[in-house]
Amino acid sequence: MNSDLTEIINKIGRALSSDDRFQSALDSGLEALGHVLPAGAVIFLKKVLTGREDDFVLETAGYWSGAEGGDKKRAGTWPCFRPEDLSRGMWNDLEKGKAVRAEAVPPGELGVRGNFWAIPLALRGHLSCLLVLLDVNPKTDAGLHENLTHSLGSVFELWLSKADHAQMVENLVRYAPNPTFVIDAAGVIRAWNPAMEWITGRKSSEMLGQGSRQAGTLFYGEPRPMALELNIRPDPVLESSYLEFRRQGDDVTAMSYCPGLLGGSYLKVKATRLYDLNRRLWGAIETVQDVTRERKIERDLQRSENMYRVLTDFAGVGMLFFHRQGAIYSNERFSRMLGLETQQVSVDDLLARIYPEDQDRVSGTFDRLFDGGDRSSQMEFRVMIGDEVRHYRGHAQVIDYEDRSSVHFIMDDITRQVELAQKARLHEIRMIHEDRLTALGNMAAGIAHELNQPLNTIRVITEGHLFGREEGWTLDETELYQNLEMISRQVSRMSSVIRTIRDFAREDRRAAVTEVDLNEAIENVFSMLGRQLEAHDITLERTLAPDPLQVQANQTRLEQVIINIVVNARQALDDSARTGKRMWVRTGRRGEGLFIELGDNATGIPDEIRQKIFDPYFTTKEVGKGTGLGLSISQSIIHEMGGRIEVRNNSQGGTTFVVRLPSRRV
Ligand code: ADP
Repeated sequence: MNSDLTEIINKIGRALSSDDRFQSALDSGLEALGHVLPAGAVIFLKKVLTGREDDFVLETAGYWSGAEGGDKKRAGTWPCFRPEDLSRGMWNDLEKGKAVRAEAVPPGELGVRGNFWAIPLALRGHLSCLLVLLDVNPKTDAGLHENLTHSLGSVFELWLSKADHAQMVENLVRYAPNPTFVIDAAGVIRAWNPAMEWITGRKSSEMLGQGSRQAGTLFYGEPRPMALELNIRPDPVLESSYLEFRRQGDDVTAMSYCPGLLGGSYLKVKATRLYDLNRRLWGAIETVQDVTRERKIERDLQRSENMYRVLTDFAGVGMLFFHRQGAIYSNERFSRMLGLETQQVSVDDLLARIYPEDQDRVSGTFDRLFDGGDRSSQMEFRVMIGDEVRHYRGHAQVIDYEDRSSVHFIMDDITRQVELAQKARLHEIRMIHEDRLTALGNMAAGIAHELNQPLNTIRVITEGHLFGREEGWTLDETELYQNLEMISRQVSRMSSVIRTIRDFAREDRRAAVTEVDLNEAIENVFSMLGRQLEAHDITLERTLAPDPLQVQANQTRLEQVIINIVVNARQALDDSARTGKRMWVRTGRRGEGLFIELGDNATGIPDEIRQKIFDPYFTTKEVGKGTGLGLSISQSIIHEMGGRIEVRNNSQGGTTFVVRLPSRRV
């Protein structure tokens, strides 16, 4: 090939690749061509299909004119060239890839006279552009002309395919829904899609042709490489500044905080390398996803979850969140309460530790929650840790979590409460017994009196008979039988007194709760204490309801309460110097309930100690006389029956106790 020609082509080739921006590369190429030929003007025309069958227009993509002082194209007024400016014959040749040469300029508004060359440029086998040279140096010989048009075609076609390729990439990127951009191997931005324009506020016309670090300025506030550039040129220091940065083959995924974007955003980015046909690195593409909201939600959720864990740990409760398939999470306390070291504990771990007798009850409760029977449930159960038994109270609540029924289970250690309650129970049993013995002591005088009277009667009868025998009286059989009957009645009376005392003293806490008539209980008490009151000069007035007043109670314990109140009244009356000592008892119904009123006209109880009389061991009596347990035990007995004891000072100067009880317990 002619060395001049080689030089011309090289020059044009260099000009065409001198600039990374396609338009200025083309302009330089056209200018170089115009100079080296030299030519009056050079026009680069694009054949643009109109969409109607085979119809097209010619668009000027680049233009250089030597006529108007060299290299300037006429600003804004690109020369217009129409398909009909060329004859059908010319088009036929051009379609076949043959250059066309004519001596006359075709009609139109080009304003250039002289010869006319049109060189066809093909892309993927189709005529796609025309390179039109006007007014070429007439000295250019024919041979040179052939070679020149051929070579020029190749050079410009090369450029064309490069531009076409870039156009394709731009088209693809344009329609990507996420913000996306592309750089070439040199780091120059080659595509910048509308979504990218939206989040950065920068038009693609501003960004195309810029270095990728310009994009870095928009994202980070300083010119730094973006993930797609790090994909091509790794930089461990910068990569470590990302919240996450993972490289896998040609792909990079990363997460970063971008202070420069939309007032600070968390972005998830994906960048991958692009290669050409020869697997030469061509550039890289990056898509960006704004995950600020997701991240905030995730962080808020995590924060509240952590807070919840801390709170439950702080509150000292164990917590397990689970669904049928397994545990969702549990807190540290829960593991510890089961004596386990592991962090995550399942419902099976829980069930395995539960005391065998309680297991079915707890797992049955969970089943009912999952089956939709209950929404929440409470349970108490024991857990074996080594040889130790611990008591727990659990509260389970159904929660819909991620579209599944889940159970939120909170567990509290109540071992200490249970142990204290057991101790208190033992203590109470002991106290009740102690108090009963005191009450018996208090009754002793009355009992002596109660037994004395029949014994006296028996003695009078028997001594009468013995005296008669000594005196030699005859024995009247009728009188003897009458006396024996009398003795028998007195013995029965004593047996009944002794039976009552034995019943009362028997330590049988489990004695059955039965239907008890309040009036009968009152009668029983006063049959034991009535004589004692008489002996202490106390008049008793009874106003008992005419009908039986049925309550569910343990008779002995109910009588113990009445005895306590009566004995206290007797002691108060003993201690008072007044005359006309009285005590009264009334029973009846009030509203739904029943009441026993026991009053005395002794001293009353000073306001400041009235609050304390129900406290265990509170007594104002001297040692040996009071234990301070009577009223406290009486109160717990009445509470257990669902009732209460009220106390007030009455108008007679004494005290009135009212025991209120529910009429009948189901
Ligand atoms: P104790 O009788 O052994 O002292 P209680 O618990 O039965 O224990 O009674 C506590 C205190 O209540 C008595 O010490 C007494 O001060 C007061 N009290 C109870 N009943 C009466 C009453 N009818 N009149 C005046 N004080 C009373």
